[in-house]
Amino acid sequence: VSDMGGQISIYLKNLEETRLFGCELGKLALPGDVICLDGDLGAGKTTLTQAIAQGLQVPDSEYVTSPSFAVLHQYPGRIPLYHMDFYRLHDAAEILDLGLDEYFSLSGLTVIEWPIRAAGILPAHRLDLTLENPGDDSRIIRCTCPPEWEARLAVLFSQHPGLLP
Ligand code: ADP
Ligand code: MG
Repeated sequence: VSDMGGQISIYLKNLEETRLFGCELGKLALPGDVICLDGDLGAGKTTLTQAIAQGLQVPDSEYVTSPSFAVLHQYPGRIPLYHMDFYRLHDAAEILDLGLDEYFSLSGLTVIEWPIRAAGILPAHRLDLTLENPGDDSRIIRCTCPPEWEARLAVLFSQHPGLLP
């Protein structure tokens, strides 16, 4: 991972591999982590978040749904999960007004859909994942990995080499 300058592409050939990858991310998450999920409607952001929740041992993780109206759904798990969806928000000022940035420094995992709305206020240690849907059941994820995630992702990919193209 590190010799690619923190950039890596992940190839998920079907829903099962998306679930596997998300679940492994959830197992690896540490207090204060932030994972940003970019990508069009239907790319799989909420589906990936469900799998992350499963890896975090969130009870009934299959019922994790998009918080697009509530903006924030909070779940108990091995560490708390703060699932945010900024689709309906306009800009970073609105996010700051709602105090949502305060969750970034709490001891849970924050997962953010539509992070573009929060441009400029996201923490530098975030893991950025951009999901692409080529039009079938596969997904490509472009990952920008901060130093905080490099060793953890290296372990993940050594255990699951099939996720790399
Ligand atoms: P988003 O939150 O990005 O709008 P959703 O997760 O709500 O996307 O929807 C993704 C849809 O694509 C779901 O219906 C899911 O079952 C389907 N899908 C099919 N294959 C995959 C895959 N490999 N990864 C993620 N979702 C997939
Ligand atoms: Mg969604």
